[in-house]
Amino acid sequence: MKRLVRLLVAVCMMCAFGQVLAQTTSLEGKKVLFVYGGWEGHEPRQCMEILKPWLESQGANVVLSSSLDSYTDEALMSSLDLIIQTWTMGHLTAGQESGLTKAVRGGVGLAGWHGGLGDAFRGNTEYQFMVGGQWVAHPGGIIDYKVDIKDKKDPVTKGLKSFHMKSEQYYMHVDPSVKVLATTTFHSQPESPWIEGVVMPVVWKKHYGKGRVFYSSLCHSASDFSVDEALEIMKRGIAWAALSRQQAKEKEE
Ligand SMILES: [Zn+2]
Repeated sequence: MKRLVRLLVAVCMMCAFGQVLAQTTSLEGKKVLFVYGGWEGHEPRQCMEILKPWLESQGANVVLSSSLDSYTDEALMSSLDLIIQTWTMGHLTAGQESGLTKAVRGGVGLAGWHGGLGDAFRGNTEYQFMVGGQWVAHPGGIIDYKVDIKDKKDPVTKGLKSFHMKSEQYYMHVDPSVKVLATTTFHSQPESPWIEGVVMPVVWKKHYGKGRVFYSSLCHSASDFSVDEALEIMKRGIAWAALSRQQAKEKEE
């Protein structure tokens, strides 16, 4: 009996270790283009400086870029596993947009958060089609709000419980085809009383061609990443999106 218990404990430990290993090694050897810039209010550099050391600690090879022209560099784009972008209120030229969307369609993952992905290029509809949503308002500005985990089985949100943010609660126009992992419920504001009770996606994943796209509307500023759940969701979402090209290749074989 004792032997059986020991065996069961060993199996459980191996399973737990395997899960952690799967999460921590998915970035090993992956080439990541980290594009940061745009509106300074979202602290693109500070946010990049939080995530880059973690990416490197996971074995990723991070290429930094503060220019959207990186999207027109075909040799670079075709060498990537993942693009992380934090660039608010910019504009993509036709060449930049087609370079980016072509890469993701072909199997490069894309991950980002808040306005850096979800309010990046208001005039670029193909880009928005790829991301799966576009910011339109943050009623009340910086407020206390709750994030509810909608999908408790998905690896990105598994094991996490509802949590609170003091930040911008993003009201978005969202593509109904996205897989929603977490939501938030709005309360009416003096300027927008009709939003009372609206349940809005906060975290989602989707596909665009062969590419995996991950988005979280959390983290208006770099300090918002100090909320453990917000940072953990971002890390897990990045790890999921980074497996995009690998999965695409495996399907071809
Ligand atoms: Zn913001």
